[in-house]
This record gives sequence, structure tokens and C-alpha cells, in this order.
Amino acid sequence: DQVAVKTALLSVSDKTGIVELARELNRLGVRLLSTGGTHKAIADAGIAVTDVSDVTGFPEIMDGRVKTLHPSVHGGILAIRDDADHVKAMEKHAIGAIDLVVINLYPFEAVRARGEDYPESVENIDIGGPAMIRASAKNHAYVTIVTDPSDYAALTERLGKDGQTDYPFRQQMAQKAFARTAAYDTAISNWMADELKIETPAYRTIGGSLRQALRYGENPHQSAAFYVTGEQRPGVANARLLQGKQLSYNNINDTDAAFELVAEFSPATGPACAIIKHANPCGVATGTSLREAYLKALACDSTSAFGGIIALNSELDAETAREIVKLFTEVIIAPGATEEAQAIIGAKQNLRLLVTEGLPDPAQPGLMAKTVSGGLLVQARDNGRIADLELKVVTKRAPTDRELEDLKFAYTVAKHVKSNAIVYARDGQTAGIGAGQMSRVDSARIAAIKAEDAARAAGWPQPLTKGSAAASEAFLPFADGLLSIVAAGATAVVQPGGSMRDQEVIDAANEHGIAMVFTGMRHFRH
Ligand code: 5GP
Repeated sequence: DQVAVKTALLSVSDKTGIVELARELNRLGVRLLSTGGTHKAIADAGIAVTDVSDVTGFPEIMDGRVKTLHPSVHGGILAIRDDADHVKAMEKHAIGAIDLVVINLYPFEAVRARGEDYPESVENIDIGGPAMIRASAKNHAYVTIVTDPSDYAALTERLGKDGQTDYPFRQQMAQKAFARTAAYDTAISNWMADELKIETPAYRTIGGSLRQALRYGENPHQSAAFYVTGEQRPGVANARLLQGKQLSYNNINDTDAAFELVAEFSPATGPACAIIKHANPCGVATGTSLREAYLKALACDSTSAFGGIIALNSELDAETAREIVKLFTEVIIAPGATEEAQAIIGAKQNLRLLVTEGLPDPAQPGLMAKTVSGGLLVQARDNGRIADLELKVVTKRAPTDRELEDLKFAYTVAKHVKSNAIVYARDGQTAGIGAGQMSRVDSARIAAIKAEDAARAAGWPQPLTKGSAAASEAFLPFADGLLSIVAAGATAVVQPGGSMRDQEVIDAANEHGIAMVFTGMRHFRH
């Protein structure tokens, strides 16, 4: 299964390491063929190289749209070397075998990331490159395909021994090559879907390109990797890590949850902070300053906040940084950090500080995916917002202005809590969060217990749930959930409504003088 490499075709957009590779191949006696720009780079370095045009007898035409799309090239790649008919065809048409193909594609993804216009994006869709990559990968029994400059070293190491490549290596490189063309076409198709404003999951392609292999997954015995989809959205995938070690799988997941939640609160209405543990918020607050927002968020459940992830909706300042470093925190993500704040965080070497270019738009469409056994579930991002909903007062008493503000705040947080979710809030601060229970009543009770614990820890005379507003992310199916909320001291409730027993719940609310509003929109999150 060893194949001697006698002729190589080099055609790369990213010229990193190509001259060194060409020099090494030349030294090993490999004949080099190359396309325009790559040919020039190699020839300029004084290395012998043949222009592909001399092989095809055809010039590069149409601004390079057609350079290698020719039977002399594709025949040389695809021929089965020990098939008599194929060999005869090669002889008849004077086609020489190509044993090694080194290609990287027009930088479509980079061009998109730079936000170039439509025609420039179209021009950067590589045609000949993927054709050669796929031809070479298909014929990996004979041909070695290399699509990633980081594999040049492995290639030259093998060739350095005896000028041959082995089958397992060619197989591995072929697999990687198909992964590359698949990711490339996914990027192109999703860019067009964006242009055409196609948001339906059924017409989009789920996929991305590998950002990095992670040390492990959710648990140390699970392997993991991070893929980026190229979506233009400030967030964990596009953030800059200013300090701290590489993010782990759980860090990435939790940081995303934290930043998406805090982005619900526009900086125009004031600073906001969300603290996340295991993808659920353990405290969320707005404040007159960022420091105040952080301290209010922390007060909701300062025990759980240990080792948490902090997301801020505005630039991290020094006074907030000084508070944050008092407690062990895994990650901070914010749309910026002042120099002074960075210096303060710098004292904590392991604390990761991520900064983004602004906040993600909560109303932006997008996709979410989740694997199931043998399948993949894809849905549109939950970009519904209470600000855009028509709220229906269903009780005798309507919420006061203050209650209404608290209801909106609580409902916005509840959208980001795993179901079943009950969130109590007061004055722009979560008072208690009940997450992920199988029974909604249990979520209501747990949230109240957490509020009592927080009051005890802070030395408050009573828990913040007294006089709070409560949100349920899905309808209250029975009156028991409402009674639980009443018992915690809430005076107003927001829920989607739509249960068969809505009237029973409304009656219970009226009996206790509760103001209740229906949103008509559910926010399940699993
Ligand atoms: P160069 O810089 O050598 O002129 O061009 C290298 C790039 O051209 C590579 O990214 C390669 O994938 C691409 N390429 C090679 N052949 C063709 C072709 O026939 N048509 C198009 N559109 N691109 C090609």
C-alpha cells in the first residue's frame, strides 16, 4: 500500500509554508506542477516548477475561474494505476499521473468574515479546488491529498523516508479533505440562505469548521471539539480571550448561556449582569452602575455563584472588576474591558476574560441544534421577546407599573432558565430562580427556598420574594403552582396562559388579589 510520489500538483490560496514544502519535494526529486499564483511563489524562490497550463496546453482563462478543470489534470488524478483501460487512456491522451495534490481553497469563509459584498463573495467560491480535492480524495488508493498546511510536516516526514506515502495516511488525509469540502459548501450555502433571508431549518445546513479540539467534553472521559459556523454574532465563538487558559467545553456552553441572557438587557436602559452555573442563571440584575448590577445578581444566590460565569452587557470597569475578583469565577464575558479593569483581573491568572465586539441581538434569527440517537434536531433560535408581545391582563387587578417592570424582567430571565422555570424578581433583580424541575410546583418552591437562603445570608429582614413578581416560562397547568407562588409572597404573575384550567388559575389569583398577565408565548428550554 505504499505509493511513490513522483508528480505533485500544488495550488494554494493560503501560501503558508508552500515554498518550504516545494523545496523539500524538489529535493526529493518530485516533479512539481502548479497554478498561476502558487507557481509564481515557488518559481520566485528559485525552485523548478511547471505551470499547469503547460500540462493542459490550455491557458488559465476567465480570471482563473478555469485553470485546472481539464482532463489532463483530472485524468492524472483519477486514473486507476493498475487498470489496463485506464492506463491505455492515459497513454492515448498523453496524461501523466499526479500522485500528490496539495490544495487549499479560495478563502470564502475569511471573505465572509470580513463582510465583503455579494460579487466578491461569489468570486471567492472555489470551483477547481474542490473538484481536485474530491477527485484526489476519491482516488486515495493512489493519490495523497493535503488540504491543511499543518499537515505539510507529516507529509514531508513520510516522503523523507522513502519518497512514498502509506495507505492509512492517504486515507486519513482523504477523510480530512472531504470534511473540508463539506464545511466549505456549508459555509457557501448558509451565506446564500442569509442573503435570501431563509431562516427555516429545513432549508439550511448545519455544520461548521473546526476551531479547536478541546481537552475533553462535559466529562473528562468524553472527547470534544469546538466548531464555528461563521455566523456574524458577537458571542463566545467570536470573542477575544484577553487572559486565562483555554475555555473548556462546559465554559463555552455556560458562557454562551450567560451572554445570550445578559444581551436581553440593552445597555441603553442601564448596566446588567448575569451569573451562570451549569447553563442556568443563579442571579441576574440591572443596576445604576455595573458594580451595583453585579452585586445585586450575586446577592440572589451567592453560594451558587462560586465558580460561575459572569456576563456583562457593558464594558467591564475597574470598580466592578474589584468586586468580581473577591470570589472565584471561571469566566467573564463583556463587550469590552477598560485597561484598569484588565489589570485588576490580571491578578487572577486563571480567570478567563473574554471581550466581544458589542452584544448579540436577541431578536436575530438563527439555528439551534441538538443530537438525538441517530439524528439531529434543528430549530430556530428562541428570539421571542416580551417587549414585542401583547400582554393580556386576566385578573381583576391589573399590575402596577412597578409590578409590570418586574414581570417583564422575570419573564425575560425565565426564557433563559431550563424548564420548568419559575423566576421571582423585584426591582430589576432576581429574587429566586427555580430551574429544571420535572414539576412546576417544585420549581416555584425551590426558588422560594433559595430566596429565603439568600435573605438569611445577607441579613435581610425578609426574602426578596415578598412583594415580588413571578414568571413561569410555560402555562401553570393547575392552581397549585400559583398558590405556591402566592405563598412565596409574590403579588403579580406572568405566564403564557393557554391551559385547559386557565380559569381555575385565574380564580385562585383573584382570590388572593394577585395581578396576572398572559403573554401567549411559551419559552420552553431543555
Ligand atoms: P493560485 O494562487 O495558484 O493562482 O491559485 C490557487 C487557488 O486556485 C487554489 O485555492 C485552488 O483551489 C484554486 N483553483 C485551482 N484550479 C482552479 C480552477 O480551475 N478554478 C477555480 N475557480 N479555482 C481553481
